[in-house]
Amino acid sequence: MKQIYFFSEGNKDMRDLLGGKGANLAEMTRLNLPVPTGFTITTEACHSYQQNSHQLSEALQLEIDHALDRLSSSTGKKFNDKFDPLLISVRSGAAISMPGMMDTILNIGLNDDSVIALAKNNDRFAYDSYRRLLAMFGNVVYGISEEIFDNVLSETKEINNYQSDLELTTADLKNIVTKFKQIYQDVAGKDFPQDPKKQLLSAVDSVFSSWDNNRARVYRRQNNIPETLGTAVNIQTMVFGNSGEDSGTGVAFTRNPATGTKNLFGEYLLNAQGEDVVSGVRTPESITTLQESMPEIYDQFAKIAEKLEAHYRDMQDLEFTIEHKKLYLLQARAGKRTPGAAVKIAVDLVNEGLIDKNTAIKRIDPESISVMLHSEFAQKALEQHILATGLPASPGAASGQVYFTAETAKNAHDKEHQKVILLRQDTSPEDIEGMVVSEAIVTSRGGMTSHAAVVARGMGSTGVVGAHALQVDYANKTATIEDCVINEGDWISVDGTSGHLYLGQLETTDAIINDDLATLLDWAKEISHMGVYTNADTPEDFKRALKFDADGIGLTRTEHMFFKPKRLLQMRRLILAKNAKGRIDPLEKILLLQENDFYELYKLSAGKSVTVRLLDPPLHEFLPHDDKEIELVAKEINTTKDALKARIDSLKELNPMLGHRGDRLAVTYPDIYQMQVTAIVNAVIRLNQEGFDIKPHIMIPLTNSKTEMKWVRDVVVETIDKILTNKNTTLEYKIGTMMEMPRACVTADKIAEVSDFFSFGTNDLTQLTFGYSRDDVGSFMPEYIAQKILPNDPFQSVDIEGVGELMRMAVNGGRNTNPELPIGVCGEVGGDPKSIQFFEKIGISYVSCSPFRIPVARIAAAQAAL
Ligand code: PEP
Ligand code: MG
Repeated sequence: MKQIYFFSEGNKDMRDLLGGKGANLAEMTRLNLPVPTGFTITTEACHSYQQNSHQLSEALQLEIDHALDRLSSSTGKKFNDKFDPLLISVRSGAAISMPGMMDTILNIGLNDDSVIALAKNNDRFAYDSYRRLLAMFGNVVYGISEEIFDNVLSETKEINNYQSDLELTTADLKNIVTKFKQIYQDVAGKDFPQDPKKQLLSAVDSVFSSWDNNRARVYRRQNNIPETLGTAVNIQTMVFGNSGEDSGTGVAFTRNPATGTKNLFGEYLLNAQGEDVVSGVRTPESITTLQESMPEIYDQFAKIAEKLEAHYRDMQDLEFTIEHKKLYLLQARAGKRTPGAAVKIAVDLVNEGLIDKNTAIKRIDPESISVMLHSEFAQKALEQHILATGLPASPGAASGQVYFTAETAKNAHDKEHQKVILLRQDTSPEDIEGMVVSEAIVTSRGGMTSHAAVVARGMGSTGVVGAHALQVDYANKTATIEDCVINEGDWISVDGTSGHLYLGQLETTDAIINDDLATLLDWAKEISHMGVYTNADTPEDFKRALKFDADGIGLTRTEHMFFKPKRLLQMRRLILAKNAKGRIDPLEKILLLQENDFYELYKLSAGKSVTVRLLDPPLHEFLPHDDKEIELVAKEINTTKDALKARIDSLKELNPMLGHRGDRLAVTYPDIYQMQVTAIVNAVIRLNQEGFDIKPHIMIPLTNSKTEMKWVRDVVVETIDKILTNKNTTLEYKIGTMMEMPRACVTADKIAEVSDFFSFGTNDLTQLTFGYSRDDVGSFMPEYIAQKILPNDPFQSVDIEGVGELMRMAVNGGRNTNPELPIGVCGEVGGDPKSIQFFEKIGISYVSCSPFRIPVARIAAAQAAL
């Protein structure tokens, strides 16, 4: 087995064997770029090392000997040469880059003799190189802490009152070398090996074994990097950036990694080596100044950068060294970038003809897009102490004054014009008005699909939920965490992207929705098979979603339309009425209000379909809870407090999520659905008379069977027919069902006989498949994930094995009956990229998600189609 490849023998496609760094060094050599000669020991050699009880095999040592001979003849340099000793670097490099665990040792080959040879031309440089080797070798091979070496350097600088390493004299450096060698004795009880070959073999051994160190294992686990990859080792002749003021070293990106702008972006230091630029020991210069100090080198570098970018068809992160005004390339790799820069670079590369649209889409992490659509805290602000951390329910960055009830939040907002943050144990639909005016919503309980989380995402507000460390005390109007007490009116800042909470008001940066993102989203739309609709309850939501180019509304939760004071009163009158007759007046009043709601919503639709779901939640959610409120409502609706209390009690359910909700309401109170259907149809007829061409989609929640669906469908159809006959007009419409009950999935073929479309309500379907109450998962889900009993929260990313199988069954059943059946997903996972991949596979027609998730879902849908 060949275990060593010279750079001239490899290429960029040999990443698995040569690691990323090795493959790119080979590729640059192939392109005739100035790369110092060297070779790579393969990842297969690393595997043999692991199987050979962590020993370098004789075969490998022999191959290293041959490679060193070959290196000597091509460079004309030899280890221990009295005039021109061979010096080399040893660097690790896995197929997938693992920054932070990479071991590097420079200047191997130096010892007490060769340093004298090297010193003949430039003694300061020789001893500077030697002290660097001693520190790196000591740290990597013998595990001596870097700090011990650093302390010696700092002490010398302090005694001599030096500001920078550059002021160290040759005498200082010689002294430091002596002290470093003593550290070997004191800490490791060993001498620094003088034999260059021994230095090299120990370095290779250390790099191979570093694959198994704890730091590397943790990094691999976090980043899903397979344990089996192993690392390669790159051995390369040294070039010296620390050999004087006509030398230097630097790193540069071919485009700005923060903004994506096309210009060289980087830093360098003269008379410096390796880590100096990134380690911050000296403040580097911007690469633009190189244009003045060494114009020829700058031009050569700029040309190489352009060539490499065109060759790799991506923004590159380059490392270079200048030795006596001669440029060398030491590394090229795809550069890390911000989400905004990633989008700009992808679009620019398509426009420059370097990549096609599909490649551009594939390069974007869909999840990162959401970061671009919200404001963020300025980087500096984030250095503040983190007060508490909850689940990052809805991205964004917001500061405001804390209020503990919806009412006080709304008052402070409306009357005092304050920026408010609603902080509660949890929220319910009756908090909606306080939530609407809040900059952010924070709860101490609940999971990612709790009411607070869903509403925050739906409104595009910042949201953090389940911050368990917060003790919310409504009576005293405080939230306590350890010994810190937040009182009503105190300022806090909420980071919905990280889930962190901070005290005080942090500085924010503005959100950017730019042309590049719009272009990318257009391409994604062309490529996708699935549509991307929005969940929207108000014209404001819908307008926002249309700005993000939603294909229409996939779900309007009509219950959210009732939580406004006037309607709430009528709703309460309706619920508390003793019989159908008593319901007539409140129903008529609500009808007018709802008709207007639907009119405004459908008016915005511009040819796009809008699916309205009929009332879903249990009725008691609309009734008052605390004593004071009960008294007030009793007065409003002309009854006694006791009578009202008794009625509220009679409506209370032990398990409201499994109780009298959804289409069960239609069976017991058909007049509520009749009213809603009338409101929809009246609104649409009005609009169509004004010249629109709207075909409403009406959706029935919680369906369990064909018989049940047929029963409710008949109520809806009869209502529509009656209106159309009365008005002597016609209307095309569709009546579909939510698929959110396991029973419905199993009997989907039959339900499809009476349903024009399906839309998966994965929130309820997940709740019922697992038997997890969606509002209570916060108390155990984190532990399930920590213990790896669940791979992730199934309310956030679909459980493919269980819930997904029910969905597949329902899709197949439905399409058996009606091959053209449109099937959507409108639960929270509709905006989750991983789930979207799966939905494409089972033939879902569209997903529907909150407005701010639309761009994320659009990119994910395109990726799923590729
Ligand atoms: C669902 O259950 O997934 C759904 C969309 O409906 P809701 O969240 O309103 O119950
Ligand atoms: Mg549901």
